[in-house]
Amino acid sequence: MKPFQIFNTLSRTVEEFRPLNPPNVTLYSCGPTVYLPQHLGNMRAFLFVDVLKRALRLAGYRVRHAMNITDVGHMTSDEDAGEDKVERTARAEGKSPREVADYYTELFLHDIDLLRIERPDVLCRATDHIPDMIRLIQRILDNGYAYVRPSGVYFDVEKWRGPSRMGRLSRQSLDEQMAGQRLEHSPDKKSPHDFALWVLNQPHHLMQWDSPWGRGYPGWHIECSAMSMKYLGATIDIHTGGTDHIPVHHENEIAQSESATGRPFVRYFVHNAFLVEKPGVKISKSAGKFPLLSDLVSAGFHPLAFRLFCFGAKYRSELVFSDEAIAAAQKNFEYFAQFARTLGDSEARAAEDSPWAREYRERFVEALGNDLNTPQALAVALELAAEAYRRGDRHVWNTLTEFDSVLGLDLAGLREAARGAEFPPEVARLIEQRRAARSDRNYKLADELRRRLEELGYEVRDTRDSSSYVPKGV
Ligand code: AMP
Ligand code: ZN
Repeated sequence: MKPFQIFNTLSRTVEEFRPLNPPNVTLYSCGPTVYLPQHLGNMRAFLFVDVLKRALRLAGYRVRHAMNITDVGHMTSDEDAGEDKVERTARAEGKSPREVADYYTELFLHDIDLLRIERPDVLCRATDHIPDMIRLIQRILDNGYAYVRPSGVYFDVEKWRGPSRMGRLSRQSLDEQMAGQRLEHSPDKKSPHDFALWVLNQPHHLMQWDSPWGRGYPGWHIECSAMSMKYLGATIDIHTGGTDHIPVHHENEIAQSESATGRPFVRYFVHNAFLVEKPGVKISKSAGKFPLLSDLVSAGFHPLAFRLFCFGAKYRSELVFSDEAIAAAQKNFEYFAQFARTLGDSEARAAEDSPWAREYRERFVEALGNDLNTPQALAVALELAAEAYRRGDRHVWNTLTEFDSVLGLDLAGLREAARGAEFPPEVARLIEQRRAARSDRNYKLADELRRRLEELGYEVRDTRDSSSYVPKGV
């Protein structure tokens, strides 16, 4: 089997993936800024990470994933200028920044659950990590790559980049990076390229904390450096985000982190391309109007149709959003669901699949290992089901459920739900309670319900994603 290959923005090539401590993989993703709902473009970014994570697991890796929630410091410009995004919504809605952040964080979690995006192992909010950021800024200052001014603590970009002044990730010179941006530069900065690590003397800002340099608040970029280091170590294997983060946010994260630790920050930067309204026009919050998952659901689509729609495109290709394309993805979803719902018990319980299915498994794993070629993997999964129908041999359930560990459609759950109608009402009720308990991560209750189901004569089998309930002795 070929090793897992992935495109690394640092080298601009598809590279063999070699984590620092195999089989463990550390993965950090820039998460949502919680001042508006996350639109379907944002969801593409989070779906991409989810599929990457699941594909790595299928390839034998153990992934530890951290994602931040940005609830302070992200200004209306990606640079330091403008207003804090969360505070702007708070003022407009007459709420506190915390209320705004909590509301949109909940909405985000609700949507990722509907899309069956696994919650990260660590989901960390910026405002809970102010002391970590302060300590990191102090290290950067101690190493001589930052300076203090009345308006803030600034990162000294030119000193860091040295004579070439080229960005490692964006491959842009400092002037190119700034071209076309109209910024209100603080006269305090040594150079307009410098960015704020900590902002001081902004009395209108609602969120403020004490620091060794005075009361203030963090710049946007420092949170990701501080939290990735705290939860994943000085050097992480993979860092993800949309391609919009390459020139400023991720370039600055590298500078801050490496100037503090003297060690490489990230081994593989992996960026997803945009979901667009039409070619070249990104779906974005600043456009004012943007499609949400709830819009798709109101229009009668299943949330997982959007999941499969994204799965059907390569993560590095721009993807054009259209109802027709989502409808086509929904057809594929129904096709898999129907296969699962109508599968006989003997096929579903067979310990081994028919030998002809093995080749499909190899092709599926290989497609994902080939720079996460999800359209090809999807085609293999559809072919497997079609071939099973054609042969009249549906002994492929082990293979299909393994594919589903990456597709994420919960085919086993769909099959159980279809069969649920056959359970006695008391058993069906316990099964539903246990499903809810597991999804809430209430494992104590789930174990208690398992015992009761076993007493009623059912064998309970859990996988990471789903459970099956089979009458004992059948
Ligand atoms: P934000 O909440 O704006 O910080 O964005 C959260 C994530 O969504 C980031 O990784 C962005 O790069 C990504 N993102 C934003 N817009 C799009 C889009 N139209 N398509 C794909 N990813 C996006
Ligand atoms: Zn980030």
